[in-house]
Amino acid sequence: MIKRPLGIYVHIPFCVEKCGYCDFLSAPAGVDEQSKYVRALLKEIRSYEPVGDLFMVDTVFFGGGTPSIISPTLVAKIMDRLREVFSFADEVEATIECNPGTLDEKKLKSYVKAGFNRLSLGLQSANERELKTLGRIHDYAAFENNYRLARRNGFANINVDLIFGIPGQDIKSWKQTLETVVGLQPDHISAYSLIIEKNTPFHYRYGSEAGKKLLPGEAEERAMYRFANDYLGDMGYRRYEFSNHAKKGKESRHNIKYWTMQEYLGFGLGAASYLGGKRFSNPSDMEEYIEHAPNSYAGFRMQPVRPEKRAMEEFMFLGLRMADGVAKADFEEMFHVRFESVYKNVVDKYKRSGHLEEVDERIRLTDKGIDVSNRILADFLL
Ligand code: SF4
Repeated sequence: MIKRPLGIYVHIPFCVEKCGYCDFLSAPAGVDEQSKYVRALLKEIRSYEPVGDLFMVDTVFFGGGTPSIISPTLVAKIMDRLREVFSFADEVEATIECNPGTLDEKKLKSYVKAGFNRLSLGLQSANERELKTLGRIHDYAAFENNYRLARRNGFANINVDLIFGIPGQDIKSWKQTLETVVGLQPDHISAYSLIIEKNTPFHYRYGSEAGKKLLPGEAEERAMYRFANDYLGDMGYRRYEFSNHAKKGKESRHNIKYWTMQEYLGFGLGAASYLGGKRFSNPSDMEEYIEHAPNSYAGFRMQPVRPEKRAMEEFMFLGLRMADGVAKADFEEMFHVRFESVYKNVVDKYKRSGHLEEVDERIRLTDKGIDVSNRILADFLL
């Protein structure tokens, strides 16, 4: 029997402190709460035993939150449980997200032993004032120390997360951050624009008309985006998705699954999955999650398959985030219908206006299209 490739996401919803801009499912917690949560997580993974044999896991991503604040023994236990329930491909890409200042040699060695081969470090900025503004727990020195420690302890594949559009940031300080990070030669760089999310301290501070004036203006923010693309491109990092840049062969295989609608299972609080044409999420309330965890697989079976039109829209929304865009042949293979019979009008319209282009039977956004991507993508609704 040929096993289906599967990505696995594991959510660790704990952080040392909450950052001012963050609306992820994460909060500080004591060791007892962390252990109780991991017990539920282990039960949730076990509940997939009836179908574990159908899959070959080729990517794993521990995200959060800050997976590196829980005990490395717990991290290893989760990995062991995953391997008990699912088969792992020999060349599995296994990432753990860590925050600077939370790593030491013992933890890193333990991660390597557990099978992790990729590290994602949340630096966000190399500027001390900007790190304070964001409410990060670390300074730049802590990041560089952890980065070098990770390299010395066997991590040959490292991503660094950055944010631009930070209050008080200008193109000069953004350039300095990029130059500093490129100087360390990570394999992958994610550069996201700061979003002011509702119900965060940043929303109260910067969400009003007066508050918005403290943020870089729209033109400056776009200039930062373009500068990152050009500079990182010149330095050997290809932008393969709106916000992600990688050296050749170091693209995140796990994240590519999300953007190309390949199957993945999310374990843990609020984690999302896409399996068998069904899209579903775990409860985001802790008590509810702990109660639901042992029956997670049964819950999946009760989910409805997504209507085809919604799946087509999603295929386009996600695929157009990729620099290479969507292959018409992939669309036709997935939906058994000619691409042109569904999207000819909208694609022709935006090809004429210069927002989309077609290269080698693939449709992709041009730079002009990326600048107004929300408007273009909205036109792909059926
Ligand atoms: S470390 Fe990440 S997940 Fe945790 S509070 Fe900060 S931004 Fe949110």
